[in-house]
Amino acid sequence: MKLPEKIVLKDFQIENLISNKNYADAADYLFNSQVNSWELMKKNYDALKNIQTKSFWLEGFKLKVQFNPERIKSTSAAVDEDSVKSRECFLCIENLPEEQKGILLMDNFLLLSNPYPIFPQHFTISSLNHQPQMILESFSEFLEVSKLLSPRYTLVYNGPACGASAPDHLHFQAGTKNFIPIEDDIQQLKNDFGKIVQEDEFITTSIIDDGLRKLILIESTEQKKLENSFSKIFKMLKKLSKTEPEPLMNLLCNHDEEFGWSLIIFLRSKHRPECFYKNDPDRILISPAVIDLGGVVVTPREEDFKRVDEELLQQIFREVSLDMETFSVLAKKVKNEFR
Ligand SMILES: [Zn+2]
Repeated sequence: MKLPEKIVLKDFQIENLISNKNYADAADYLFNSQVNSWELMKKNYDALKNIQTKSFWLEGFKLKVQFNPERIKSTSAAVDEDSVKSRECFLCIENLPEEQKGILLMDNFLLLSNPYPIFPQHFTISSLNHQPQMILESFSEFLEVSKLLSPRYTLVYNGPACGASAPDHLHFQAGTKNFIPIEDDIQQLKNDFGKIVQEDEFITTSIIDDGLRKLILIESTEQKKLENSFSKIFKMLKKLSKTEPEPLMNLLCNHDEEFGWSLIIFLRSKHRPECFYKNDPDRILISPAVIDLGGVVVTPREEDFKRVDEELLQQIFREVSLDMETFSVLAKKVKNEFR
């Protein structure tokens, strides 16, 4: 598909990077160009540099909390069917801001800078077509985009009912590599809390319960093998959890020339914790999606940022992660499947 003229950044250097299929550097170039020419974006990325954060070290891993007022819209977004139907889709090309430029990825995805960042460089990768957020049908594209951007960026996915603020429009997000603590911690988590359930020279699948989160890690050099394992796990979980349109999950993916893909599946039981729906002063506006579960918890309100402690984070993470019973059954089924 061809992009509308107004969205293409006409610049010799970026055209050169794209024609050499150097999409990671092209994304970085696009980012810098947009930050320099788009006032709102510059303001928000400048603000991000001076943002307050605090860190907690739990058993074997790290959690950061980020006080990020610009994320209020996304954190508190109404994503029920009626609310979504009654608003204009902000990812459809015709509704993008005037200043927005993008890069075409693999013929049907558009890479855009995100003007409301969590990462030092934050992108949205949205489908050119207005189609529902669903991962199984777009999983091979997810892996391919991850490979294209991996020299600089990590690719993530939020399920339509557990974090995506546009459940009606297929999209991924990408951000600065190694910004999310779990990227550094995952091998340690695998060693300390993981069970390997599938292993040959091309693929290793591990099931991990670190006390807060329920995870599956798939590491593979073979795209087809990875797709096959993911699809099996997806279908088993769908049958067990009976959630529509897909089992609740968030994904985080990296690709390495030597070691291949590393895919983390965060298994979920629900979208938002109880405290999200309470009235002030008991309300805590945290709406966990993949970046939060990976260890950068976003609080758009200062009172919540101040109040968050280790105990509250543990409680929220446990509450939104897959329940122990379903997790145990899934772990057994996955083990049997790959035996
Ligand atoms: Zn749309």
